[in-house]
Amino acid sequence: MSAARPVVTPNQLIRKEIQALHAYHVPPSVDMIKLDAMENPHLLPQSLRDEIARCVAEAAINRYPDAGAHQLKEDIRKVTQLPAGMDVLLGNGSDEIIQLLAMAVAQPGAVLLSVEPSFVMYKMIATFVGMRYVGVPLAGDFSLDLDATLAAIERERPALVFLAYPNNPTGNLFDADAVRHIIEATPGLVVVDEAYYAFASDSFIPQLGKYDNLLVMRTYSKLGMAGLRVGFIAGDKAWLEQLDKLRLPYNVGVLPQLVASTLLAHHDVLLAQAESIRSERTKMMAALHAMAGIEAYPSEANFILFRVAKATQVFEGLKQRGVLIKNLNGGHPALADCLRVTVGSPEENKKFYAALQDSINQLA
Ligand code: PMP
Repeated sequence: MSAARPVVTPNQLIRKEIQALHAYHVPPSVDMIKLDAMENPHLLPQSLRDEIARCVAEAAINRYPDAGAHQLKEDIRKVTQLPAGMDVLLGNGSDEIIQLLAMAVAQPGAVLLSVEPSFVMYKMIATFVGMRYVGVPLAGDFSLDLDATLAAIERERPALVFLAYPNNPTGNLFDADAVRHIIEATPGLVVVDEAYYAFASDSFIPQLGKYDNLLVMRTYSKLGMAGLRVGFIAGDKAWLEQLDKLRLPYNVGVLPQLVASTLLAHHDVLLAQAESIRSERTKMMAALHAMAGIEAYPSEANFILFRVAKATQVFEGLKQRGVLIKNLNGGHPALADCLRVTVGSPEENKKFYAALQDSINQLA
């Protein structure tokens, strides 16, 4: 008989850098006004909901999905107006595509570069796949520090660069010329992450094909489909073919494919909702500017970053009043005393203003 097998613990087996990670935190939000995750607050019109119900009822959920998601890809190509020759690859949310990209280029010493503060998953995923992460600080007003970024690119020779356009959590749209400079200077791939494209005044989609190393990533999460988990990356087939080898064959299910296609057939409805969110954003910006002690930053996304004294207490005050936003205080040093609020429906936003004012008054 062999000797008893020694007990194995996670501590012995799991890579140290994974043990050191904090899992992406999703706070409980039951019965709260949920303005923490950049979701679209609008419900779909009843007729469209009925149409979805009908096609879901008939869906062949006993079968695996179309692994190539041909219909949905075709619908995406149509509404996105991709330049000729460009293709798309789908992800289970764009998070999954970040991971595919990182897996594809991860080799000893390979660098993933982004700016800071930006979307935290770039850094986390670099760690998942064993890449070295380099974060270049943004300027004080959250614009790109072009000189510092170009110097870091020259020094680090990144295999992969992510630029969120508009940026999360700051909300601003980087200078397009500065982004072009970065694309031209980068020896590796540059991914312009347009998660918030529906609320922004510019896009790099028309630039696809002009640079050999540019890909543009988008998600439908902010356009009313967060629950479906559908994102895509667009660019030259030569790149997408390689990424496709790493994609798990059935990464987008039957129902997400079907419902996303149905919704894209009513793209005008989604765009009208995005338009109403943009006009609510203008009102929210005015409301925040009107409150004493708040510094709100310009936004081309469906959220606004603002700075307020005692931010963590203000955040807790909001929570006690039933409003959940995102506390960024204590994370990146550039975000000291910063909170981020998603633009909700007019009713939700009014409740947010009142709760915010009350929370601030209580601390005075
Ligand atoms: N990129 C950016 C900049 C984001 O803010 C987010 C979501 N917070 C994502 C990508 C991922 O979105 P999803 O996985 O829902 O497509």
